[in-house]
Amino acid sequence: MSEFDLISRYFATKFPQRPDVDLGIGDDAAVCTIPPNMQLVTAIDTLVADVHFPLTTKPEDIGYKALAVNLSDMAAMGATPVWMTLALTCPEFNEVWLQKFSEGLLEIAQLNQVSLIGGDTTRGPLTITIQIAGLVPSNTVLKRNGAKPGDSIYVTGTIGDAGLGLQAVKQQIVLSKLAKKYTLSRLNRPTPRLAEGQKLLKVANSAIDISDGLVADLGHILKASNVGASLQIDNLPLSNELLESVPYEVAIELALSAGDDYELCFTIPESEILPINSCTYIGKIETDLGLRCVTKTGDIFIPKANGYQHF
Ligand code: ADP
Ligand code: MG
Repeated sequence: MSEFDLISRYFATKFPQRPDVDLGIGDDAAVCTIPPNMQLVTAIDTLVADVHFPLTTKPEDIGYKALAVNLSDMAAMGATPVWMTLALTCPEFNEVWLQKFSEGLLEIAQLNQVSLIGGDTTRGPLTITIQIAGLVPSNTVLKRNGAKPGDSIYVTGTIGDAGLGLQAVKQQIVLSKLAKKYTLSRLNRPTPRLAEGQKLLKVANSAIDISDGLVADLGHILKASNVGASLQIDNLPLSNELLESVPYEVAIELALSAGDDYELCFTIPESEILPINSCTYIGKIETDLGLRCVTKTGDIFIPKANGYQHF
């Protein structure tokens, strides 16, 4: 199969079509129209085999996750994703692998009406790069640098699940069938919180998606905003599957330090009404720099993981 056959078979026709794509796959470049009073928001994320996913990961999950992590960046900005390009490097043109990979990618592209407008296909060690483009009403985008002392800190969903799933994949822990199924789906098919991010526009002072762990990613907000925070660690949202699988202290460590959950962490002024339900209050922004983790009895808790050294 030639490179051109490959592109047309797996990537050219099946993806959602959008009226704002003036010229899609097939020319030297793609052309799209940005609606008036909207800003273009772009991000790019690369997944390298054996670095960002274990070699045993199913191709359909790799396709799904490659877009999911990019959509999560759009969610963190409050943007609506619309177009993507795909740079695919494969060691060989394996038809079964490509079919499954494109199915996983197509599934999440259809869920979110994202058009595949172009890309590049090369031979080499398995690497998937997706560049995502989204739209946001002008001057409303969510950033990391707007957190203010007094803001309440929230996180969507539950955290620590993907970290536990990764431990299971690496055979560092044996999980019940149900906990394994749940945590692996959290690891391989994260849910980008797009609707939540969009509802936070004009309400949140700052937002970020949790890809490296709560302590590290909240740390980016604190640094960019030149503020500190105290975290109520007993408030952290933990799934039943996580709580059933490991001792409470281990669950807290995973929630603080494990990455790959792709939940949103955001801060909003106390005076604002929370525009979403599926989130949990976890602490307060303060003027004192640094991050203080506090238990419900008021004791200071020092996370074991390295993420902490940033502070
Ligand atoms: P060029 O030589 O001009 O870079 P290519 O041969 O790389 O063109 O690609 C031909 C067309 O196919 C282009 O429109 C490009 O965007 C598209 N394309 C190439 N690889 C992919 C891919 N993996 N997914 C989607 N579109 C692709
Ligand atoms: Mg090219």
